[in-house]
Amino acid sequence: MRKWLVLAAMFVFLSLGWTNSGRAAQVDSFAVAAKEAGAPVYAWMAGRLENVGKLDRGEAFEVVGEDEQHYVISFGFVSGMVKKTDVTKVRPSAGKRAPNKWRRSVITLQDAEVYVFDRGAKQAIGMIRSGVRYPVKAETRLYYLIEIGGRDGYVYKHVTENDYGVPVLLYHHILDDFDEPFFRSTTTVPFSQFAREMTYLKENGYTAITPEALLAYVRKEQLLPPKSVLITFDDGLKSTYIYAYPLLKRYGFPATVFMITGRMRPAPQPFDPRGLQFLSKQEIAEMRDVISFESHTNHFHLSDRQYGPYLLFKPYEEAMADLKASKEKIGATAIAYPFGAYNGRAVQMVKQAGFVMAFTTKKGTVYPGDSPFELKRQWVYPHISLKQFERLLRP
Ligand SMILES: [Zn+2]
Repeated sequence: MRKWLVLAAMFVFLSLGWTNSGRAAQVDSFAVAAKEAGAPVYAWMAGRLENVGKLDRGEAFEVVGEDEQHYVISFGFVSGMVKKTDVTKVRPSAGKRAPNKWRRSVITLQDAEVYVFDRGAKQAIGMIRSGVRYPVKAETRLYYLIEIGGRDGYVYKHVTENDYGVPVLLYHHILDDFDEPFFRSTTTVPFSQFAREMTYLKENGYTAITPEALLAYVRKEQLLPPKSVLITFDDGLKSTYIYAYPLLKRYGFPATVFMITGRMRPAPQPFDPRGLQFLSKQEIAEMRDVISFESHTNHFHLSDRQYGPYLLFKPYEEAMADLKASKEKIGATAIAYPFGAYNGRAVQMVKQAGFVMAFTTKKGTVYPGDSPFELKRQWVYPHISLKQFERLLRP
């Protein structure tokens, strides 16, 4: 109690000192502390402002920005916002911050208190809500070391699980199991398998996200729910319309198709499982309620026997014209490199053509800070088991 009074007195003294300094508020030179019951922290999660944590009363957190109604503090991967009316300005706490040694993150399984240790005493300074992805800097036997509002703090390991990153699933062709032997390849998934996998996602509480939500996540502008997945299809085949679309619609899963726009048909083609048919404008328009359409180049889904994929070696002007044509035709902001092939020049070109993100076929999941132009995807091979599918989601 006495300690409290001393702190409170210091507080008043220090904050008076601060307000009397007369200089314009340097946004990085002050901290805030919650009044009364603590201050909720808000952050954007897939397009919605969510309550992601809490600052305990009286604890100082460094301010890194502000808008009319909020102060902004660092909150793991993203910016956390606290209402100005919930806090008062104070001097920053003097604690030193540990360097970030790890490149890994966790997801909170329940509301997780954040502790500091002061001369052997453990004290909570705030809380991270359940279902938030958070980077960790180091670990002890019992705790992960994290940073919140410019302060180091500890959370119990057992209230978190490993963050396996966000999987971007890659499909191409789907055929009925009866038809599938006609067109057996690494890109044709039997419908029973696809249906089993979508049902797995549904039953296990996955949220299907859009490329825009993934981009905001990669840029550390927004969080994503714990079980997020981006479902993608390459090439723009008619089987997407026949098999994938009805199921995705039923489950409420948005998905993305990367179109080879030069192969788009003016009118729907009859479906023939012995060959490949491409989507028509009419089918595309019909599917827009569930599926977003992005680019897979216009006529550059070709490979030269000697020089390899077109995007890697064709003259700059020709390649740019193809990228721009494709982008315009389908109204795309994202692209998938044909055959997953890209190099430094390809990255530069897709940027210059106005794309904001590009997908590869490199294996792995996506984390904040990844390059938006080298996004990894998990290729869903035909005839894999549900166990193998699970491993694509949580590698
Ligand atoms: Zn392709």
